Amino acid sequence: MTELERHSYDVVVIGAGGAGLRAAIEARLRGKKVAVISKSLFGKAHTVMAEGGAAAAMGNVNSNDNWQVHFRDTMRGGKFLNSWRMAELHAKEAPERVWELEAWGALFDRTKDGKISQRNFGGHSYPRLAHVGDRTGLELIRTTQQKIVSLQQEDHAEFGDYEARIKVWAETTVTKLLKDGDRICGAFAYVRETGKFVVFEAPAIVLATGGIGKAFKVTSNSWEYTGDGHALALLAGATLLNMEFIQFHPTGMVWPPSVKGILVTESVRGDGGVLTNSEGERFMFNYVPDVFKDQYATTPEEGDRWYTDADNNRRPPELLPRDEVARAINSEVKAGRGSPQGGVFLDVSSRLPAEQIIKKLPSMHHQFKELADVDITKEPMQVGPTCHYVMGGVEVDPDTGAASVPGLFAAGECSGGMHGSNRLGGNSLTDLLVFGRRAGGGAVDYLEGLAEPPAVPDAEVEAAQAEALAPFARPDGENPYAVHADLQATMNELVGIIRTESELQAALESLVKLRDRVSGVGVKDAGPGGRGYHPGWHLALDLRNMLLVSECVAKAALERQESRGGHTREDYPGMSAEWRKVNLVCSLSGDGGVALTHQPLVPMRTDLLELFETSELKKYLTEEELP
Ligand code: FAD
Repeated sequence: MTELERHSYDVVVIGAGGAGLRAAIEARLRGKKVAVISKSLFGKAHTVMAEGGAAAAMGNVNSNDNWQVHFRDTMRGGKFLNSWRMAELHAKEAPERVWELEAWGALFDRTKDGKISQRNFGGHSYPRLAHVGDRTGLELIRTTQQKIVSLQQEDHAEFGDYEARIKVWAETTVTKLLKDGDRICGAFAYVRETGKFVVFEAPAIVLATGGIGKAFKVTSNSWEYTGDGHALALLAGATLLNMEFIQFHPTGMVWPPSVKGILVTESVRGDGGVLTNSEGERFMFNYVPDVFKDQYATTPEEGDRWYTDADNNRRPPELLPRDEVARAINSEVKAGRGSPQGGVFLDVSSRLPAEQIIKKLPSMHHQFKELADVDITKEPMQVGPTCHYVMGGVEVDPDTGAASVPGLFAAGECSGGMHGSNRLGGNSLTDLLVFGRRAGGGAVDYLEGLAEPPAVPDAEVEAAQAEALAPFARPDGENPYAVHADLQATMNELVGIIRTESELQAALESLVKLRDRVSGVGVKDAGPGGRGYHPGWHLALDLRNMLLVSECVAKAALERQESRGGHTREDYPGMSAEWRKVNLVCSLSGDGGVALTHQPLVPMRTDLLELFETSELKKYLTEEELP
């Protein structure tokens, strides 16, 4: 066996975004020895890119807001397919997590009377997103990192070692979860800089690896989002929930091609920006679906009044949930009413004074100026849908984050259930904090209940190492970049925003062929530098994960014969109350592919059902489900 390092921890957290850092802090606060592993540099997770804010019903800007309203909005946004228990915990605990962040040093924007400021966002009834300009994720990460440093300083004072109880492993990629019988016992990883292997021995692992966007060609996600946590969980015997639901954010940049897909924050619309087509029409008024008709303005005048008098007017349809806006943009472009570069126009220049745009949306102003040579204080942006977020993920216990494999936990974007078929903007950042904390605590409870700690079998390590080295044994194998490009094209073109049976079948056929190609990719030894910083090798290993999650998405998308949230079937355009009762669950099949089963949704608790009018419930539930 090649030389490898071994390290032992109580809890290993894979992922150093908001979910991972909050889980690690929790486990450390409860006295455990923790490792945080991150594929990218410490601080460079997707969380850092979050712009709009963190949704929490603090009622700072509109005192009518409370957890019940937030819960209702989240369930509506997810079209009632959410794990209602997760939505309940999230709505109740999000304010506390935001205040905790403030106590740890986060500097949020303020209201005039000095409270944490909250802004409007799609699908939220009241201004609810706590924010720091359009750089909220940066502040979340800065604060949680600072908290970790302060805990390390405490440990130094007590043990003379900063890393006595919490160590960060940056630029270290986990390729396999290790098991002792049916229990988790550790993880196998390589260090990017050196290519050296590391075995982490740990009875409890928290997955917090984020999403899967790099399986698609046009995406707001960066290179780390290759579905690693999803695939690691599947390969370890856990299950994934409702993988067909992918959020295509309505507003990504469409031009220039090199930056296609980069996010244009929803705050642009929350702060007054409007969408228009090539005929200058505010087309969103034509796309308000029946389930939302009562809550959205029917004229531009009413929509505009809402910004200053939200109590007496309905919100503009530009602020419908993301799935609705993305489909509407897609339809306008298909109907030939798109912008010159194949999107639609998003204009804030005619709606707000230049200085306000620069103050409220500094990153957007900078991004368009630098990347597209467009001054958003003077002219509209061109935008179109981009693959942004995966609602599906590791099936977990809502209260503890425990997956079906003993010792495995998951939180954040790589876990499933919370957002149902569509996530509301801003709900992710608070999801990370609420469920990161719960998963960290769940892992500690599990540890404390363990009679016998597991041991890492040699055979598991040998298998992990052989798999990691396999691409070097095929120096003349296919180039991983070529295979990745074809995988991304398949997912974008055949499993994208609008889906049909024939295209999904074609996608599955293409994925079967890609499976052979993925197992044939090869890389050359990098010479004296060995395996250090070898991006071709890294991608060759990531491909296994992207392929597996793509199979899950395509299979589940073919199976679900309805349109709901982030899953639109042209051949089944309506929502079906019968399908709402079904979770689609993926597991690994005997041949290394994906098996799909139907699982009944747990009926909602009566006190939660009673938060809704029966007339609204009738839009989603079957007769026998109604209270
Ligand atoms: P991440 O923050 O992505 O962290 C994942 C971590 O896992 C990283 O450290 C990565 O290196 C690590 N990792 C992955 N694979 C491995 C592996 N194999 N081994 C080791 N480490 C691994 N949500 C909101 O609520 N509000 C917003 O305003 C908002 N804006 C957004 C803007 C953009 C541009 C994007 C892309 C997303 C936005 N979102 C927003 C969504 C939100 O940011 C993400 O859903 C969220 O940050 C995910 O957090 P996470 O902790 O689950 O994962």
